[in-house]
Amino acid sequence: MQLQFVGSGDAFGSGGRFNTCFHVVGAQTNFLIDCGASSLPALKRFGVMRDEIDLVLITHFHGDHFAGLPFLLLDAQFTRRTRPLVIAGPEGIETRLTQAMEVTFEHSSKTKQRFDLSVVALKPGERRSFGAVNVTPFPVLHGESGGPFLAYRVEAEGRVIAYSADTEWTETLIAAGRDADLFIAEAYYYDRIVRNHLSLKTLEAHLPEIRPKRLILTHMSDDMLGRLDTLDYTAASDGMVVEI
Ligand SMILES: [Zn+2]
Ligand SMILES: [Zn+2]
Repeated sequence: MQLQFVGSGDAFGSGGRFNTCFHVVGAQTNFLIDCGASSLPALKRFGVMRDEIDLVLITHFHGDHFAGLPFLLLDAQFTRRTRPLVIAGPEGIETRLTQAMEVTFEHSSKTKQRFDLSVVALKPGERRSFGAVNVTPFPVLHGESGGPFLAYRVEAEGRVIAYSADTEWTETLIAAGRDADLFIAEAYYYDRIVRNHLSLKTLEAHLPEIRPKRLILTHMSDDMLGRLDTLDYTAASDGMVVEI
């Protein structure tokens, strides 16, 4: 299985990076994790065949993780997609998606797609299967409002990919990421402790409990991007491909 960082940036395009979007492809799997505002141009930049994507997992409704969906859906409509598509995310996703579509392209939420579109709300702790992709959402801490906020543990083709999403430190990241073949973790700051986001030093202190087989940092602010040369960890970059 292969994962490409289509977007590894934060909400503000730090370092000129695209908003969060990861593309996972295997023998029987083809899905996205998050679809931020800039994700359609990013998918096109990296030559990702959008027609072949079966599933989009959304961690939360912030624009840098979610606001690419109206563009992705309209592009699918205009390019005459026929393959069914599932979009799964936190509870409330049906309403939030309708709102996002109406804000960006009026009446677009009322246009009947040529393809089957299912929008599925996921509950924390409830494992769901989408074809060969098994998804367990975990609740994370990313603010008082605008939630729910989810991290994901995804099992597919005998491998485990975990993604922290945006969150300050929470114990649920241990269960989400434990022994994962690939743990993608937010590292917004190096050592500054702020609300709603994770710093590398905090994450580092908990790595012995999480024990990921491989760790890749993402969603980095300018503070972190300025230290990339001195880090002991792998940092994501846009377009980077990893074999899992
Ligand atoms: Zn974010
Ligand atoms: Zn966020």
